[in-house]
Amino acid sequence: MIRVAVLGATGSIGGSTLEVIGRHSERFRAEILATHRSVDRLARQVERYRPRVAVVADATQPLAIATSSAEAAEATEWRTGRDALLAAAEDPSVDVVLNALVGAAGLELTVRALAAGKRLALANKESLVAGGPIVLDAARKGGGEIVPIDSEHSAILQCLHGCDAKSVQRLILTASGGPFRGRGPGELRRVRPADALKHPTWAMGAKITIDSATLANKALEVIEAHFLYGLEYDRIGAVVHPQSVIHSFVEFVDGSVLAQVGLPTMELPILYALSYPERIPDATLRTYDPVASSPLTFEEVDHEAFPLFALGVEAGRRGGSAAAVYNAANEVAVEAFLAEKISFPEMADVVGTTLERLGAHDLTDIHDVLAADREARAAAAEVVEHLGRSATGMTRT
Ligand code: MG
Repeated sequence: MIRVAVLGATGSIGGSTLEVIGRHSERFRAEILATHRSVDRLARQVERYRPRVAVVADATQPLAIATSSAEAAEATEWRTGRDALLAAAEDPSVDVVLNALVGAAGLELTVRALAAGKRLALANKESLVAGGPIVLDAARKGGGEIVPIDSEHSAILQCLHGCDAKSVQRLILTASGGPFRGRGPGELRRVRPADALKHPTWAMGAKITIDSATLANKALEVIEAHFLYGLEYDRIGAVVHPQSVIHSFVEFVDGSVLAQVGLPTMELPILYALSYPERIPDATLRTYDPVASSPLTFEEVDHEAFPLFALGVEAGRRGGSAAAVYNAANEVAVEAFLAEKISFPEMADVVGTTLERLGAHDLTDIHDVLAADREARAAAAEVVEHLGRSATGMTRT
């Protein structure tokens, strides 16, 4: 039995993970379920999956848990607070820690799980982006391993299966292009959060859906691939593929290219991360039909309309704290866009200006990463304020 801690259980990835665990209960058990603050949703999951421990990270949330039976009440111990969440990442009873928290808040969990020698099923790509060298160091020292739950990186892992990393020449990540593919910068000034939240192929949480619309998500994924697979940035590219059926390409030194193909569902990368390196049967997952999905098309990234992509890759290339700054500034920008404080193209202005102001410092430990993250959030919030002020009195179009 593989015992799993699902951190971020109440989000989109967490929900899909529990579906997968529920279908394979002879093999996987949800040992710990944790949420930031969605107590009601977590309580429903606890009723169904009966974990040993349930964690609510935000200690200010009132816990009034009604259970269906005394047996159900006894099965699960409820804990609250940030320390309870951190302890869940290194709990001795757990084999796999699935980190599906949103944003840089997941970094400490990532580091703790790896330092404790766990398999880390990583959906929180921001932790690897912000603290790449520190995360890899924790894995080396603690003996933990990272298995990605990002469809592109899972695709690469599947293509690499049995291959030496030295035989890889290039990685090409695919991007759906999001809901605004084909639109020019002028049109993008007028789009609203509700438009950006309508993703054409993937159903996901709000933050990543906006990141897909700006292509910031693809930049985060290029940085993630750099750390996961140890390739230089010149050898990692991205191509827009609107059908989201090919999840990435791996080009080998002999010129052969492998791709992983499948319908867009996160349940497959989740199942693979839990069962890796084995594959286990799952009749619920629909298979790909080449004729039904035809044609598959590919196009270049439009850098003029989606400048957050190049800004992110450049931050990764710069190294040090630059990627942490990019990531934090982007989180602030996404929140401001969702709150309708700034326009869609202004998200790139917020991130670009923050990167210019803060530059890049060396990172030696997790405290450096958290400091860079805090500093970037404060600087980005100032840029948001400034943009908001300069827009007052003008009609926003
Ligand atoms: Mg992805």
